[in-house]
Amino acid sequence: MTSTTYEERLWLFAQGKRLRRFRGLLRAPRDTYCDACGSSLPSHLFGLRDLEGKRDYFVGANCMSRLSQMLVLERPFVRADIVAAYALARNIPEKLRLPHQPDLNDAEHPCCIHGRNGYGEARA
Ligand SMILES: [Zn+2]
Repeated sequence: MTSTTYEERLWLFAQGKRLRRFRGLLRAPRDTYCDACGSSLPSHLFGLRDLEGKRDYFVGANCMSRLSQMLVLERPFVRADIVAAYALARNIPEKLRLPHQPDLNDAEHPCCIHGRNGYGEARA
């Protein structure tokens, strides 16, 4: 038993922040973790920029979905490159770059532009 529930951890994470989403998502990053719940095995990472603390956070799909439902995410999207922001936030050297991220700049990607809650799996 942990002292905080998953929901509580998300609330604590969102507390005092003004979060906006990055467009796109990171696929299967290696050796990573979710900034919101601490999970070390997120298969996708979504970017969140805190306009208050001027920091970028990266959270797994479950957490992004919950945060959306909690209505703590602001509009519009962050106008920044999620891959570059991730590399900066997590201190990833240039040579350890993430694998190619095919959908990042795909303007047709439905969940990034028109998604009602901004959450969805990419469609092939
Ligand atoms: Zn998480």
